[in-house]
Amino acid sequence: MSEQKPVLEVNNLSRSFAIESSMLQSITERIRGVKPQLLKALHDVSFSIAAGETLGVLGESGSGKSTLARVLMGIYEPDSGSAMLCGREMFDVHGADRLAVLKNMQMVFQDPFGSLDPRMTVRQIICEPLKIHGMMPQKNLDSFLVKALADVGLEAGALDIYPSEFSGGQRQRIGICRALMLNPGLLIADEAVSALDVSVQAQILELLIRLRTERNLAMLFISHDVAVVRQISERIILLYRGNLVEELPADHLLTHGCHPYTRHLLEAALFLREGARLPESGSGIIPMANFEGCCYRSVCPLSQSECFQRPPLREIAPNHRVACHFARR
Ligand code: SF4
Repeated sequence: MSEQKPVLEVNNLSRSFAIESSMLQSITERIRGVKPQLLKALHDVSFSIAAGETLGVLGESGSGKSTLARVLMGIYEPDSGSAMLCGREMFDVHGADRLAVLKNMQMVFQDPFGSLDPRMTVRQIICEPLKIHGMMPQKNLDSFLVKALADVGLEAGALDIYPSEFSGGQRQRIGICRALMLNPGLLIADEAVSALDVSVQAQILELLIRLRTERNLAMLFISHDVAVVRQISERIILLYRGNLVEELPADHLLTHGCHPYTRHLLEAALFLREGARLPESGSGIIPMANFEGCCYRSVCPLSQSECFQRPPLREIAPNHRVACHFARR
């Protein structure tokens, strides 16, 4: 782990959602005074990111990756836990203080088509965060905007054009430009290249790596794609059903990733690359509303009686933590 003071420090973050039931069932439950069942979308997740560092968040759909991004962005309130961004508490602040915290953290979204308002020109789109935070330059606005576009590889002529006239990759550059207008300390990229062709993905990843280096940005890069996360990250955390099951340096993932879920993801990625059938996974999953013990127990091929106790996230080597009773290096 980096020695620098973290830009983002997250401690024991948890968030649950009520499991949806039919209207009749919910009315009956309410009359009987039965509390709704809760699904733990995030369960005691802790990590940190230093300036100039990218932390990859890897996991399948339903792992809690997007919930994590939404809790950090203030879209969902956490049930418990805390987070410090650039030395400021993130969750216990409101109004202008909350806005000041959020200014330091911006997001690049998955969908380069849906995330830009089609009725706004690029100029209006990239000026929006400046207006919200009262930071519109009083002088030389055009040259400021042209420089911002050039930083993400777009021409000055793009300023007065609508998003519909750009390709997917160019739209994602506009989204990145908008996210950087406030010069944030932390950039959250949520599946930011998943909707793009492979060749365009490579260009956007290169752009993000360059911007991170030039601006000493901390980046939280969320994806289900093992190859993409390995390429851009220094460290990786793996989430399974809201639990952080492993954390390790990105260049150790293939050789030393040892949680059974990590091994399953790596095998699945290899099978996909070679065009073979995916290994069986997920069969026999136990409903997890109030699951005791290891979160991976219902599908783990190595499960034993000890696994009815929740394994702590323990350090098995420098910068390598695993939540499995039997993990070794
Ligand atoms: S603690 Fe048990 S169930 Fe959980 S990953 Fe390890 S071996 Fe599998």
